[in-house]
Amino acid sequence: MYRNAKNVGYYLIGSGSLAQLEGVLAKLKPSQANPCIYFLDHFFEHQDLASRLPLQPHDLLIYVDTTDEPTTDGVDHYRDQAKAFLDGRSPAALLAFGGGSTMDTCKCVGNLLTNPGNSCDYQGWDLVQHAAPYKIAVPTLSGTGSETSRTGIVMNQAKNLKLGMNSDFTMFDQVILDPDLTASVPRNQYFYTGIDTYMHCFESLTGSYRNVIVDALAEKAIDLCKRVFLSDDMMSPDKRELLMIASFLGGMAAGFVGTVHPISAGLSMVLHMHHGLANCYALSVQEDIYPEQYKEFMTMLEKQKIALPKGICKDLTEEQYTALYEGSIVHEKPLSNRLGPNFKQIFTKDNVIKRFQQM
Ligand code: ZN
Repeated sequence: MYRNAKNVGYYLIGSGSLAQLEGVLAKLKPSQANPCIYFLDHFFEHQDLASRLPLQPHDLLIYVDTTDEPTTDGVDHYRDQAKAFLDGRSPAALLAFGGGSTMDTCKCVGNLLTNPGNSCDYQGWDLVQHAAPYKIAVPTLSGTGSETSRTGIVMNQAKNLKLGMNSDFTMFDQVILDPDLTASVPRNQYFYTGIDTYMHCFESLTGSYRNVIVDALAEKAIDLCKRVFLSDDMMSPDKRELLMIASFLGGMAAGFVGTVHPISAGLSMVLHMHHGLANCYALSVQEDIYPEQYKEFMTMLEKQKIALPKGICKDLTEEQYTALYEGSIVHEKPLSNRLGPNFKQIFTKDNVIKRFQQM
């Protein structure tokens, strides 16, 4: 009945707070002599971010390919790379600089460094047995809440299953929220990713599995999202800081989503669509289920001049529609959270496929 809830241990907030990283790492004594492993979104390969980090010659820097969302095979590959580099040593810390894909990769690799087997063995709830190395998140994109959530989401192509490693051991130990890092994010991507927090939170608040603390966090995160996305400039410095905090709170509130995320997962599995954009499409065909939020979301799109072009599922085969349905309906917990235990009577195969056809 009662779950012992864990939150992120330490956090730093504010413009320029990245400069505190060196001090944070110095406090990790005596393991300081051990190497750190830095995971940076491949976007930074041609930027100056790495040169601004306290990288030591004995550290490892990995650029994470985020063209597609993390897969079980991809995570296993990064785990192999990290293990070969460590050669039996323990890392002082694993650090992630990026959005949800990079942070989730770092979280999952952490679990695999201290637990046997492969990532597909840990997709589910509380399957991880041993604590991961110390992990630090520095989000450079706001919205997924990966910096504070207890999951690391991976796609298992063989099983057509998008499911996270849900565990207290998956969580980061330290988060650094420096809004300067989101200044160069493209506007569309900033919106699609940022709105993920709004969706997590309203799905949680309109569901049946609730608790007062999660509700409080979700309500505040939604309030901050509205201040960002209903404003004239969602990317002004103060709005970027607000969105970063919304994401941080939203990640803590993300436990039980509703019907947006399952439909979104189907799109990611079959069409390899990124999570934030897939969420936008998913909500765009659920006016009947979330009328109030649908309306507000449409106003935000209009206000920020963000396009959501129609016709993304128009030329698909029967098999692809079936895969979209199956990749969605498998998420029983969130679907029943919103629609009740008989969710399959509402989300019939026909009903769900019609929604994809409307996108
Ligand atoms: Zn999400």
